Amino acid sequence: MAEGGHYDVVILGGGSGGYACALRAAEFGKRVALIEKDKVGGTCLHRGCIPTKALLHAAEVADSSRESEKFGVRTAFEGIEMPAVLSYQQGVVERLWKGLQGTLSGRKVDMIYGDGRLASPTSVTVNGATYTGDHVVLATGSEPRSLPGLSLDGERVISSDDALRIDRVPSSVIILGGGVIGVEFASVWRSFGAAVTIVEMAPQLLPLEDEASAKVLQRVFRRRGIGFELGAPFQSVSYTDTGVAVTLGNGKRLEAELLLVAVGRGPVSAGLGYEENGVGISRGFVEVNPLCQTAVPTISAVGDLVTIPQIAHPQLAHVGFAEGIMVAERLGGLDVRPIDYDGVPRITYSDPEVASVGITSVQAAARGINVVEVNYPLGGNGRSVILQAQGQAKVIAEAPSTPGGQPGRVLGVHLVGSRVGELIAEAQLIVNWDAEPDDVAALIHPHPTQSEIIGEAHLALAGKPLHFHA
Ligand SMILES: Cc1cc2nc3c(=O)[nH]c(=O)nc-3n(C[C@H](O)[C@H](O)[C@H](O)COP(=O)(O)OP(=O)(O)OC[C@H]3O[C@@H](n4cnc5c(N)ncnc54)[C@H](O)[C@@H]3O)c2cc1C
Repeated sequence: MAEGGHYDVVILGGGSGGYACALRAAEFGKRVALIEKDKVGGTCLHRGCIPTKALLHAAEVADSSRESEKFGVRTAFEGIEMPAVLSYQQGVVERLWKGLQGTLSGRKVDMIYGDGRLASPTSVTVNGATYTGDHVVLATGSEPRSLPGLSLDGERVISSDDALRIDRVPSSVIILGGGVIGVEFASVWRSFGAAVTIVEMAPQLLPLEDEASAKVLQRVFRRRGIGFELGAPFQSVSYTDTGVAVTLGNGKRLEAELLLVAVGRGPVSAGLGYEENGVGISRGFVEVNPLCQTAVPTISAVGDLVTIPQIAHPQLAHVGFAEGIMVAERLGGLDVRPIDYDGVPRITYSDPEVASVGITSVQAAARGINVVEVNYPLGGNGRSVILQAQGQAKVIAEAPSTPGGQPGRVLGVHLVGSRVGELIAEAQLIVNWDAEPDDVAALIHPHPTQSEIIGEAHLALAGKPLHFHA
C-alpha cells in the first residue's frame, strides 16, 4: 500500500462515480489515487444494481419453471433454495469485482484502502497518511435512509442492504416505498413465493415514471398477487410475535414477517470534512454546478452524493459513470458539456420491466409544451405474444407546428413489459439526437423482435400506422 504522496487527482470513494473518474483520468496520463473504505465497485456492484438483478434473474427462472406448462414444457417447480440463490448472486458479483480490480491496476490507478477524510482543499487523510492532489474528487455515494422515528433493526425492519443478505424466503413482507428499489424487491419476493404489500405515499407506484406506465405495472402486479396501498402515508410500526405490524395514515393495519424500508437513499457526507473545507452542502448532499464543480475550485463531486440546484439529479450508476468521466475529461483539458439529465435512460427491472427516457406527459404539461402521444400495446407485437409479455410503448412528441403537419422532436419514450429494458437504448438515441417520428419511421426494425414496438409507435405518430388498431 502507498504511504501518502502527491497525485494529479485524489478520488474519495471507489463506487461507480469514483472509479469511472479514476479510469478516465488515467487515460489522460494522470497519476490517480482512488481511496475506498470497503470494496471498489461500491453500492452498484456490491449492494445495488448487480446483486438485485441477479435475484431478479433467479425470480424469472422460478416463474418460467412454474409457468412452463403454458408452453407445453413439463417441469416441476420445487421451491427456492435461498443459500444457492445467494451463492449464484455472489459468484456474479465476485467475478465482476475481480475484473474491475484488474482494470484499475491495468490503468495504474493506486488503490488506497481505508476510511478517508477531506483534510484540506487539496488533500485527503487515510489511516494517518496524507494524499495530496492537484484536484480532489468527492464520490462517497449514498446509503439507505429511513423515516423520522422509524429505526432499522436489520432483522425485522430492514434496508435493501439487509434484504440482499437474507438467506430464507420470508413468508410475507411489507415494503415501505414504491420507488424502483421497493418495486424490484416486491417482484423478486413475489416470484419466490412471499406475500407482498407495497405501501406508497404517492398516488402511483414508481412516482417518477409516466402515469401510463405505472397503471400497466399496477395492473400486472395486481394480477401477480402483489398488493399495494397508494396515497397511504406510513404512521407507525410495532413488533408482533411473528414479525411486524404497520399502521398507515388511512387507518389500515398490515402485518407481515418483515418490513423493508425503501424510502430513498441519503448522502454519505457527515464527518468527512467537506463543510469545514468550504464545500457547499444542502440536506447533506454536496452542491455542485452542472459541470460537477463544488464551491472550492480544487474540489469536484460526482454520483449519488451530489445535488444540482434546479435539476432533479437521478441516483443511478450510469449517471455516476457519466459524471466521473465528465470530471476526468474536464481535468484532462477537454471542453465538456453538462449532462442532460432528462436524456438519461431509467429502468426498473421488475416483472414487468418499466423503462423510460425523456419527459412524461405531466412534465410536458408543466413546461407548457404541446404534445402528441401514442400508446402501442405489446399485444400487437409478435415477439411479445410469443413471450406472453404484457405492456405497452408510449411515445410523446412535440405537436405539429402546422395543422396536418408532422410531429416535431420525440420528447419521451415510456415502455412497460417483460424485457423492454433493453429497448430503452434505442429510445435514448431517438430522444437525445432530437429525432422526429418521421425519421424513426423510416428505419427498419427486425422482425419478429420486441424492438418493433419502437418502430410501430413512431410509424403511428408519423401518420402511417402498420400493425395498429386506433
Ligand atoms: C438495491 C439497489 C439497486 C440499484 N439498482 C440500480 C440499477 O439497476 N441501475 C442503476 O443505474 N443504479 C442502481 N442503483 C443505484 C446505484 O447503485 C448508485 O446510483 C451508484 O452506486 C452510485 O454510485 P456512487 O459512486 O455515487 O456511490 P456508491 O456506489 O455508493 O460508492 C461510494 C463509495 O464510497 C465509499 N466511501 C464512502 N465513504 C468513504 C470514506 N470516508 N472513505 C473511503 N471510501 C468511502 C463507499 O464504501 C463506496 O464504495 C441501485 C441501488 C440500490 C441500493
